Amino acid sequence: MRTLWVETTTHRYPIQIGSGLLQRLPSLLEEVGWTPERRLFVVTDTQVAPLYLKEAVTTLQQAGYTVGSVVFPAGESSKTLQTLEQMTGEALRQGLDRKSGILALGGGVVGDAAGFLAATFMRGIPFVQLPTTLLAHDSSVGGKVGVNHPLGKNMIGAFHQPDLVVFDVDTLKTLPSREIASGFAEVIKEALIWDETFVRWLEENRAGLMALDAARLVEAIAGGCRMKAEVVSQDEKESGLRAILNYGHTIGHALEAVAGYGQFTHGEAVAIGMVGEALLGERLGLTTNVSQRTQALIQSYGLPYQLPTTAEVDELLVAMRRDKKAAQGALTFVLPRGIGSVEIVKEVPEAAVRQVLTQLKG
Ligand code: NAD
Ligand code: MG
Repeated sequence: MRTLWVETTTHRYPIQIGSGLLQRLPSLLEEVGWTPERRLFVVTDTQVAPLYLKEAVTTLQQAGYTVGSVVFPAGESSKTLQTLEQMTGEALRQGLDRKSGILALGGGVVGDAAGFLAATFMRGIPFVQLPTTLLAHDSSVGGKVGVNHPLGKNMIGAFHQPDLVVFDVDTLKTLPSREIASGFAEVIKEALIWDETFVRWLEENRAGLMALDAARLVEAIAGGCRMKAEVVSQDEKESGLRAILNYGHTIGHALEAVAGYGQFTHGEAVAIGMVGEALLGERLGLTTNVSQRTQALIQSYGLPYQLPTTAEVDELLVAMRRDKKAAQGALTFVLPRGIGSVEIVKEVPEAAVRQVLTQLKG
């Protein structure tokens, strides 16, 4: 088991990563001061519930906890205010109060929605993240919680840090391989922006990681979480540095929006975005030789690295300007300075973006 710490100005909490951790939940909770007097409420989705809910609930009950739960339909379309209202109703009916605690058991959708329930229920109660997707190593750390609005993703939300993150890597064995690859896209992103040694390690350990070797998975997730934790510790509310986590996301978000949500997973879109933004960094003269290695790494993890030939450059540009990260319509990008280092570049000329998007169609 690996333990990392997230420290913000107001919070300090551990991230526990390892095998068989769901069975050890009671002692991990005790380490952060939770005891069976605290009533628990597990939030999960219809995909995860049949796999892990019973195990988690039984373990906690055997330790003396009173445990309730709510299950909502799996998928991004559940990340809504309507789900929040239903969860709140269920929490009230099951007798939760200010001293209760919420456990978010699932991927990023569950983590974001359950975290937002914790942020808002009776003006805020503590919660614990129990991520079960590889991508959720990213979403479970950092305290951003929320739901979508029909007019935009994550438009309703809060900052609410968990008391604890427990990542049981055994849960990844049931995750579809496309979701695994998508999760690796964010791990690759974290390495590319922060740590060349970690990039090399990902290159060298690809086979073991793709075969879900537990020891290597713990290392990869710890590497990604450490990087995210360091950035969040320095900039909890995204006033500057935290924006570097959006590497690959300017093009990625635009692609997700234009292709229609669901066409590409988030990780796949970010993977293509990172190749594009590496090319853009080279075109602007910030760096010389990042795109080839980026593309090779992404390709080796079974991720796409090119835009579909049907992609419309104009539509992508419109979507980029609409993205909430584009301040007043100017195009801002996180661009590489080299492998393991990026910078935020404002007012990127549209002509260069056009050329890169065209090139990215392969
Ligand atoms: P997800 O939660 O929808 O999970 C993907 C699918 O896998 C779902 O169908 C889910 O039911 C299923 N699943 C989960 N765990 C499983 C397991 N162990 N075995 C089998 N199936 C399993 O999506 P995700 O990719 O984990 O997360 C995406 C969400 O995360 C998005 O809503 C995104 O906005 C959010 N996110 C948030 C942050 C943040 O900082 N808060 C950061 C990144 C992403
Ligand atoms: Mg992302």
